[in-house]
Amino acid sequence: MQIKTIVALQDALNKLNENKQIIGLVPTMGALHDGHLALIEHAYKDCDYVVVSIFVNPTQFNNATDLQKYPRNIKADIDLLHQQNPKTIVFTPSVEEIYQSGVVAETFDFGSITKFMEGEYRQGHFNGVGTIIKHLFTIVKPHKAYFGEKDYQQLRLIKKLVEITKQPVQVKGSPTYREVSGLAKSSRNKRLNKQELETATLLHKSLKFADKNFSKLTIHEIKEEVKKLFATEKQLDLEYFEIAAVDDLIPTETKVEGKKYRAFIAAVINDVRLIDNISLN
Ligand code: AMP
Repeated sequence: MQIKTIVALQDALNKLNENKQIIGLVPTMGALHDGHLALIEHAYKDCDYVVVSIFVNPTQFNNATDLQKYPRNIKADIDLLHQQNPKTIVFTPSVEEIYQSGVVAETFDFGSITKFMEGEYRQGHFNGVGTIIKHLFTIVKPHKAYFGEKDYQQLRLIKKLVEITKQPVQVKGSPTYREVSGLAKSSRNKRLNKQELETATLLHKSLKFADKNFSKLTIHEIKEEVKKLFATEKQLDLEYFEIAAVDDLIPTETKVEGKKYRAFIAAVINDVRLIDNISLN
């Protein structure tokens, strides 16, 4: 079922709620791929009905060209979702439907988890994400909501958002779904040709290098090696490669015994910006 308005969606959800159905929400920006489908599959393990929102959220784009070029194909997305599970409720609102009082982002204080990496390189991005997810939680009132670890800072932000807003939703993370080559599935991959997709596997290779060598090398040494790898690949511009403890997500070069770390990477190939991350210990 495709629903475009908040009123029609809430009408459908009210009936499900009266019947004590567990409702899951999977927010997406469309151009769906197997990573999204895996997230939805995860949701169906815990929920009776899943709402998948498809909304390219203008307030989370810090770059107008990126917003304009973001791949959109609602018809193919809906077909794919209904092939996967005909019960899925596909919510496809317009920008006006969501931003009734103006296309502006609310300002949040998520603390250190959103200050670096994506927060540093995409100014305003996380306020846009917080704004749309808060809206969607208010509209859908899901029991559970599902987010990919591929956007790890985003996943952490959503957990923090729920703490701040006290919205009664359980936030769940799902592992990153990858191509056989290791490249993380992403809607943005659709803008790359075969050769570029091959070149882009360097992101995952760098993360795997960090994972393999985390106990042997210092963080500084790992970062230097990754920079060297990228220096040989002229088509790929490394934006950042950082290692951070998962508690604060502040990039560091010091390992503290007992702390958990992750490596984070962002790089641009042919104007297409890709991100990925991996757990290190
Ligand atoms: P997007 O449409 O890119 O905004 O992504 C919608 C949701 O799918 C977010 O929670 C993403 O983290 C998640 N997602 C995107 N790509 C992947 C992937 N390769 N594996 C798992 N989850 C993903």
